[in-house]
Amino acid sequence: MKLTFIGTGSAFTVGQGNYHSNMILETGSHKKLLIDCGSDARLALDDLNLSYKDIHSVYISHLHADHCGGLEWLAFRKKFASPSSKPNLYLHPALKECLWKILSVSLNPFQDEKIELSTFFDVHEIENHQFFWEQHDIKIFQTVHIKKDSKLMPCYGLVVKGDEQTFLITTDTQFTPEVLLPLYQEVDVIFQDCEISSERSGVHAHYTELKGLSPEIKNKMWLYHYQPLPLPDARADGFRGFVKKGQSFEL
Ligand SMILES: [Zn+2]
Ligand SMILES: [Zn+2]
Repeated sequence: MKLTFIGTGSAFTVGQGNYHSNMILETGSHKKLLIDCGSDARLALDDLNLSYKDIHSVYISHLHADHCGGLEWLAFRKKFASPSSKPNLYLHPALKECLWKILSVSLNPFQDEKIELSTFFDVHEIENHQFFWEQHDIKIFQTVHIKKDSKLMPCYGLVVKGDEQTFLITTDTQFTPEVLLPLYQEVDVIFQDCEISSERSGVHAHYTELKGLSPEIKNKMWLYHYQPLPLPDARADGFRGFVKKGQSFEL
């Protein structure tokens, strides 16, 4: 199983040839699952000589534009190119209604009751935090990304059983070792969102926080979702490193 980062940038990344932090998961049969489809996705795919034609399935972690803002493009391109073969859309049930609210403005401008999310996608609502894609076991977990009082914005990271290794993709999360430590310990490889700017957003793990993790955890941790700024020396600090745009991992 191959994981390729089509971008490794933060939500507001501009320049340095980088794009939103979306990835492609690919099996030996060359089926591709796009993990998040941000508003940069069509450009990021094109940079790797890929297009909507290569995407059979998409997983959406949460409803920020760097993770779902490209779905209108994907829906229209797929529908016009091949109306009978819809891409699979995997998502937690908590996201479905709001996602359609966003997309229906353009995909269903006259509010036709017969047109719904399933007109454009084969929708797979993920029950019990688990789904199977191409026989691979994928578990999802709620992250603490945007929080008000005790309420959490629905946002779901993934734990994927690859061919050789189990790996975790945080998608977007604050630094929450109290939630993530058991998962960090359980997996072989961690892909962790990480901001590096001195202006902290408060909704992502920051490099300085992650630096305080144990050497065992940092030794299996790759960092992504970073601002277009000079990168700290992550290897010297015990991490595997920062993922580069276009970088692939056999897992
Ligand atoms: Zn993001
Ligand atoms: Zn986000």
